[in-house]
Amino acid sequence: MKFGGLEKFTVTDYPGKISCIVFTIGCNFRCPYCQNSQLVTEEIDEINEKDILSFLEKRKDQLEGVVLTGGEVLIQNGFIDFLEKVKEMGYDVKLDTNGSIPYSLKKVVRKELVDYVAMDVKAPIHQYEKACGIEVNTDKIEESIDYILGLDSYEFRTTAVPSIIDEEGMKEIAKRIEGAKKFFIQQFQPRNTLDRRYEDIDSFPMKKLEDFKEIAEEYVQNCEVRNV
Ligand code: SF4
Repeated sequence: MKFGGLEKFTVTDYPGKISCIVFTIGCNFRCPYCQNSQLVTEEIDEINEKDILSFLEKRKDQLEGVVLTGGEVLIQNGFIDFLEKVKEMGYDVKLDTNGSIPYSLKKVVRKELVDYVAMDVKAPIHQYEKACGIEVNTDKIEESIDYILGLDSYEFRTTAVPSIIDEEGMKEIAKRIEGAKKFFIQQFQPRNTLDRRYEDIDSFPMKKLEDFKEIAEEYVQNCEVRNV
């Protein structure tokens, strides 16, 4: 595993759990608006796995959960081993994923190494290439969506990036995840983006995100706007 960050405390990233966030280095997507650009381009100092595990061991009585995020965690070698060690310490695990590797996603869920899955739905399926900055096998994305819809604990989320998401697009996304228990529409923050030109794009006003929410609520069980 290649680790590039550790946020020692959060009460907002894992619903209902006092957690920490562990960031992995590297991603198979190149979303131009990505705000973890140093993790994606791998221009960041690596943190030793031993240091992460020793932190988790020390905090296991204070923290309930570990959020594992990237980059894309599931492209890493050794994520099963790492997750087994984290679960042995008694943590609940939330996995953030772009949904491009359903085989690995299913594996970690079946092995009960992950308790909560958060998948980004980047765009309507036919616009994935534009949203992700590379050619994407959208069959894999759809496979992940269908699998996650059958889980107990999960969320889908979409970052409302102007030029990628509009009303029609939001409707298509919500229809594709129809019946989802939780869907978050996230505000786009134009800073530290992978493609610097996205820093010149203004975020949507919050009112627009509330309009998107109204559209999505026709299809999903629960939708909220996140301004993070
Ligand atoms: S936003 Fe895109 S490029 Fe950035 S980490 Fe997520 S999937 Fe990778």
